[in-house]
Amino acid sequence: MTRITRFAPSPTGLMHVGNAFSALICQQWAEQHHARLLLRIEDIDFNRCRGEYTDAIIEDLRWLGVNWYGDVRRQSEHMPAYQRALKRLRDMGMIYPCFCTRRRIQEEINRMSVAPHAEDTVGLYPGTCRKIPAEQQREHMSRQRYAWRLNVASALKRVDKHLSWKDGEGHRQTVKSVMHDDAIIGRKDIGVSYHLAVVVDDAAQGITHVIRGEDLRPFAGLHRLLQALLDLPEPVYIHHPLLNDHAGNRLTKRYGAITIRSLRKAGMQAESLRDILLHSSDFIWHAWQGE
Ligand code: GLU
Repeated sequence: MTRITRFAPSPTGLMHVGNAFSALICQQWAEQHHARLLLRIEDIDFNRCRGEYTDAIIEDLRWLGVNWYGDVRRQSEHMPAYQRALKRLRDMGMIYPCFCTRRRIQEEINRMSVAPHAEDTVGLYPGTCRKIPAEQQREHMSRQRYAWRLNVASALKRVDKHLSWKDGEGHRQTVKSVMHDDAIIGRKDIGVSYHLAVVVDDAAQGITHVIRGEDLRPFAGLHRLLQALLDLPEPVYIHHPLLNDHAGNRLTKRYGAITIRSLRKAGMQAESLRDILLHSSDFIWHAWQGE
């Protein structure tokens, strides 16, 4: 069976060295495993994504020498598919409307004092809207905007109780109810969410191996759970280390990581950048592959 992987950037800004590193790792893995590399643009968040960033990312990837197979899949062109998946989860009674604001969630967490530090509460949801009676739910829904949350406890009861996902070393990791309990599956603003779109697309594109940054490891269990509920096939999840700066900070847009554009303007050659990214990070790559 042909192995298929993908690089799936979100066009919320120009491509930076961290994204380029990730794209090169996907390409290198594909070459080493005679796999097909696909490109998907994750642009459902119309508040943050822009068409000109999509064009710039595609252009920078070409410059960098990243070659993908077939057409680029743009998530914004497939909204109905994600909405159908959301409806299916709704018909199964696996999701519920959530009327909470961020502030309300934080207040509730503080009241329950479940986590000593504010940063420990990111993604934590105290379950405020989980038990709202149906009639009250309907009434709120007619008056306010709402998100859809996955009822993780009910979902876990519905699927195989030994549900797990497979990592790059072939180990199975049990899917547990963790910090990201009752994740948002349909956002208030855009109607669907990254978690739902990514599992629908991985299935639609026949992805057998998901290769992505270590920062997304906490979501592999959630994605596996959604696949089980929606009867979607299961890919292997491989997480690569993130590129850090000298001070050990992760390179992200927010912290002003260097863009590929600025390196190109400064006269850097694609071959040198490829070499630096793949060789200066060689130790990470080898350690990761257990060599
Ligand atoms: N679009 C996500 C990002 O740019 C990657 C999602 C994924 O690989 O599953 O961080």
